[in-house]
Amino acid sequence: TRTPLIAGNWKLHKDCAESVAFASELKAAIPADIDVDVMVAPTFTALHPVCEVVKGSPIAVGAQDMFWEAKGAWTGEISAEMIKSCGCTHVIIGHSERRQFFGETDDTVNAKLKAALAAGLVPVVCIGETDEERQAGKTFEVLETQVKNGFQGMAASELTTVVLAYEPVWAIGTGNTATPEMVQEVHAFLRKLVADSLQKELANGMRILYGGSVKSGNIAELMALEDVDGALVGGASLETESFSGIVRYK
Ligand code: 13P
Repeated sequence: TRTPLIAGNWKLHKDCAESVAFASELKAAIPADIDVDVMVAPTFTALHPVCEVVKGSPIAVGAQDMFWEAKGAWTGEISAEMIKSCGCTHVIIGHSERRQFFGETDDTVNAKLKAALAAGLVPVVCIGETDEERQAGKTFEVLETQVKNGFQGMAASELTTVVLAYEPVWAIGTGNTATPEMVQEVHAFLRKLVADSLQKELANGMRILYGGSVKSGNIAELMALEDVDGALVGGASLETESFSGIVRYK
């Protein structure tokens, strides 16, 4: 029995005032007794005010990235403890846009994951293959490497809060959702991979989200899949009607 998680990644959208206004709209639109976990990830500068706005609602707040060091001469970086001190409970790690455009690797994902867990944040670890990798038949190989290297040096007992997000790069922001068959095939593979390489109990409890062109029109069929435990939503998380529609998929 895994509680579904519906998460909105606002990416580089919405400034401080817009984030606050949107968060209060969402708070009004999402029923207080909703039986799924809901998380939004605003830009860093809006984290604290958004946390204040959603207090007392079912909406949790996460950062879109973090740095692995706790303090020091690291100009421009933000630590897990700083994110936590804003009121956040979650953090997205290794989003494909970070990997593609900002030099994120499985090693940096691993370092960030360890620091996030040490701070008590719930990490949402993103993995996914590119179009080229899928065409070359390397999807499972790529995902296996991302999971094994991302989780390297960690025991099952340390990973119990970790959320995995499968986001095929070719499905992000393109309108091309992976087919339900593709999604279930990958999610089942990931659960078995975690079971075989770490622990069955961990795998059974781990939430695996799908991301890539999720909208209110396709969320129900995705959530009906056995190994899909939620969604990481980009574009459709930026408006109240579409995101609250996704949250209320049942
Ligand atoms: P879209 O929903 O816009 O395809 O973005 C998915 C994503 O990258 C969420 O992290």
